[in-house]
Amino acid sequence: MSQRVPFVGGNWKMNTDLAGGVQLAQDVATSVGDYAGTVDIRAYPPFPYLHAVGDALGTSVMLGSQDVWHEGDGAFTGEVSTDMLMDAGAGSVLIGHSERRHVIGETDELVGKKLRRVLEAGLEAVLCVGETLDEREAGQTNSVNERQVRSGLGGVSALAMGSIVIAYEPVWAIGTGKTASPEDAQAAHAAIRSLVAALYSEAEADAVRIIYGGSMKPANAAELLAQPDIDGGLIGGASLKAPDFAGIVEAAASSAG
Ligand code: PEP
Repeated sequence: MSQRVPFVGGNWKMNTDLAGGVQLAQDVATSVGDYAGTVDIRAYPPFPYLHAVGDALGTSVMLGSQDVWHEGDGAFTGEVSTDMLMDAGAGSVLIGHSERRHVIGETDELVGKKLRRVLEAGLEAVLCVGETLDEREAGQTNSVNERQVRSGLGGVSALAMGSIVIAYEPVWAIGTGKTASPEDAQAAHAAIRSLVAALYSEAEADAVRIIYGGSMKPANAAELLAQPDIDGGLIGGASLKAPDFAGIVEAAASSAG
């Protein structure tokens, strides 16, 4: 039986305003505080609100960033560095979210560079991978995940694996209300864990958290989190309502018990 601590992160995407974000952070902190010792809880607000949301979250929820640039500083208009994120109080960074890959056009190579930068800075990296609907229908789910995991983890030492969480997020399930069945999600997670074992060792594979993302909500969280290789969730829409997010955190805490 694995001792992996469940991980639940709220990806707010380009939502909220300053007042709404601070209120949401306060509500989340209040409603999940009891689970902070059992579940690793993160919130990823938009860049401009990092400071204010971080202050409102307090200590039970770690502040995170939705993205970062892979260079330390310089002429990169519009981009944000790891130092800037740390100044704002962030301890975790989403890397390669499907909206970055498929809407903004980030390549596997760029995702890998960002991930290495985050690790060099001593931050936690959440590497997001997952197949599109076309790829799933073509039977390519595992090969797409393998390509994205191999490339994302390229050059990452076994030691640094302790700072990585992998988020399996089938693109067709993100923001669509469609959820992978627990069995399909479990199969993808197990394949990713086997890949980590092949790339590193059974010890790293057993330790790494692999979380699911794609329309997770309180109503479906428990059955997904009951799967042996699903260690938590990355939550989009449901993270914008504190009671829904708290319901998922509670399900994660129960799955740990
Ligand atoms: C996400 O953005 O990572 C996500 C899983 O979104 P949603 O929960 O809305 O599908």
